[in-house]
Amino acid sequence: MPVNEAGAEPKIQVKIYPRPEHCISRSQISENALKVLQRLKKADFEAYLVGGCVRDLLLGREPKDFDVATNASPEQVKQVFRNCRIIGRRFRLAHVFFGREIIEVATFRGSEPEESDQQVIHEDGRLLRDNVFGTLEQDVWRRDFTVNALYYNIRDFSVVDFTGGIRDHADAILRLIGDPDVRYREDPVRMLRAVRFAVKLGFTLHPDTERPIYTQAELLKSIPAARLYDEVLKLFLAGYGVQTFEMLRHYGLFAMLFPATDRCLETQDHDFPRLFLIRALENSDRRFSEGKSLTPYFLLAALLWEPLQINANNRIQQGENETLAYQNAANEVLSRQIKITAMPRHITQSMRDVWFLQTKFSRTVGTRPYRLLEQAKFRAAYDFLQLRAETGGADPELLTWWTRFQEADEDLQRKMTAPPKGGASKPRGKPRRYRNRAKPGPQE
Ligand code: ATP
Ligand code: MG
Repeated sequence: MPVNEAGAEPKIQVKIYPRPEHCISRSQISENALKVLQRLKKADFEAYLVGGCVRDLLLGREPKDFDVATNASPEQVKQVFRNCRIIGRRFRLAHVFFGREIIEVATFRGSEPEESDQQVIHEDGRLLRDNVFGTLEQDVWRRDFTVNALYYNIRDFSVVDFTGGIRDHADAILRLIGDPDVRYREDPVRMLRAVRFAVKLGFTLHPDTERPIYTQAELLKSIPAARLYDEVLKLFLAGYGVQTFEMLRHYGLFAMLFPATDRCLETQDHDFPRLFLIRALENSDRRFSEGKSLTPYFLLAALLWEPLQINANNRIQQGENETLAYQNAANEVLSRQIKITAMPRHITQSMRDVWFLQTKFSRTVGTRPYRLLEQAKFRAAYDFLQLRAETGGADPELLTWWTRFQEADEDLQRKMTAPPKGGASKPRGKPRRYRNRAKPGPQE
């Protein structure tokens, strides 16, 4: 960093990259975002595209959404756009609506707290509220990574870079702005964002950005469960679940999000639970890349499957019947988990459905299989059974039976579900503790 004449204080040099020196073209920018930028400019405000969209456009990727930064206050933004709502408490923002697309317009944030209560810092260093407005030059330093702090100026189509973001972008480096220890303390979610962006962009964490994560992961315990849940969805349902999972585990961050699962992975002396999770994540990553819809409950059910089974098994050993054991285990596992990541009720209900149906698959005689087929969550539960069977957690023959049963005509279905001659029906396999015989685990 350049040094001023006194030789002490680092002097910040802004770099402006004019249009011919970067690859962002207006044709790649959403028409609605351009409208917002142009209208703000017309109303004599400054207006920039900023954050992930600039970063992604520079990589030639299609941005997920477009964020705008301006010197107009949220109220002033609202005066310019009729289709606008002010949201947020921690950060007040304006949302401009165009049908299904929302353009988020944030007022530049300042760095100095005013006399008012606009900025609130918790004693542990966390920034709880931050509504001090400022200039672009101040706004830059509040952002997380240098590559997220690039501003595309609608006035002359240049890119403004205060932090060396363009250089880091070219070197594929993810570097936290400022002192990483302080910045993680201010907002521990930045550790999760570091992992998410490193994986998604294929960037390397700068050593100074990486180092504190090993020791500061625990800070995530202070984050409200609703925010962590949102973050978990972004981490695991955005197409890079497998790598994200591996990297979160590497830094000890996964243990902060799913402590019960992490304990299972750490203490089990076989690899089946990990393989099962990897396979579940691979599936969602593939669905994402095929543009298919992804529901969080399936993956969340997979993430908590091992703790659920251990809990239910202990109960069964203590004499609870299987159904009750699974219900109680689900209550316990879920009530602990929602304190960390606040899953909404409809999600936890679907997770329960998928889990309970697993205990019913071994009943292949009589009318039960027909009733199972009619369950709303049958398809998801069957996919779940498939994952288990593929990773040594369920009898592959049971999976084959259910695959055939679904495809069979009435006649064959009747034969398949007929009680075996000369005796009571025996449940097919004991899928819960099943371990693939081809690859025996030390437990067997
Ligand atoms: P994505 O592709 O996931 O949308 P993004 O970088 O746009 O990535 P957002 O969460 O949409 O991420 O945030 C927009 C911008 O706001 C970021 O690029 C960054 O500049 C800033 N920002 C977001 N969250 C934080 C944070 N926790 N700390 C500091 N700056 C943040
Ligand atoms: Mg974004």
